Amino acid sequence: MAEPSQKAPVRASAGRSPAQCERIRRAIGNSSASASTRREIERERQRRGFRVVRDTPLTEADLYLDSARPPTLTTDRKHQTCSICLRVKSHPVAYLCGHSHCYVCIRLRLEENWTCPVSSCRQLIRRAPHRHHPEEEGIELDFSDWHQHNHSRVSYDWHGLTFPSPDVYV
Ligand SMILES: [Zn+2]
Ligand SMILES: [Zn+2]
Repeated sequence: MAEPSQKAPVRASAGRSPAQCERIRRAIGNSSASASTRREIERERQRRGFRVVRDTPLTEADLYLDSARPPTLTTDRKHQTCSICLRVKSHPVAYLCGHSHCYVCIRLRLEENWTCPVSSCRQLIRRAPHRHHPEEEGIELDFSDWHQHNHSRVSYDWHGLTFPSPDVYV
């Protein structure tokens, strides 16, 4: 079975007008993108081999090292709240834009979407996020009771993801 041509990386702008590129760029992270634009993005993902192919979709259970889950805790401190699960961040990881989320939350999102989930940001996440130690320590101190009961452990594994190279959507 021959794989569809996936050898040399194709420059993003190849065969595409600036207007098309702009449309694709804006559509990333924009769930209201038109069906044809979304199809175009999907084709691009498949052509470049970005799509994560799994027999079954990745779930939270695959990402925790054991069965323990973080106890639910919310706070009105926005900077310590994960904007995906709306809880105090557990195992926070950060990206180059400076935003951060729970490892599990962003890991699941990256299966389908490479943009920062913060609506005012939407920067492409081009490489594996890194563990945010200062934030983690701040949360441990500020919510020490919660932290003591958080026995969940994660792998911080980004296996199976290919991050978009800088020239993909330009
Ligand atoms: Zn979260
Ligand atoms: Zn961001």
